[in-house]
Amino acid sequence: MSIRGAKFHGPSPPSDTTTNWVLAPLERGAVFACPNCGKTTIVRSARSRKLGVTYACPECGFVGP
Ligand SMILES: [Zn+2]
Repeated sequence: MSIRGAKFHGPSPPSDTTTNWVLAPLERGAVFACPNCGKTTIVRSARSRKLGVTYACPECGFVGP
C-alpha cells in the first residue's frame, strides 16, 4: 500500500491563519470572516486560542485576540 496520492481531507485541510497549524479533524477551531474588512476568512485552531495567539488579517492587517 502506497502513501502516495492518499488524501484524508480533500484538497487542503483548514489550517490556522496565523500559525499555519493544520486543524485536526475533530478539533474545535474557529473559522470566521475578518471582523474589520470581512474579505478574508480567519482560521484559528483551538491550540492558538488556548495559547492566546493573536491573529492578523492578511488583507487589512487587522489584529485581534
Ligand atoms: Zn481584514
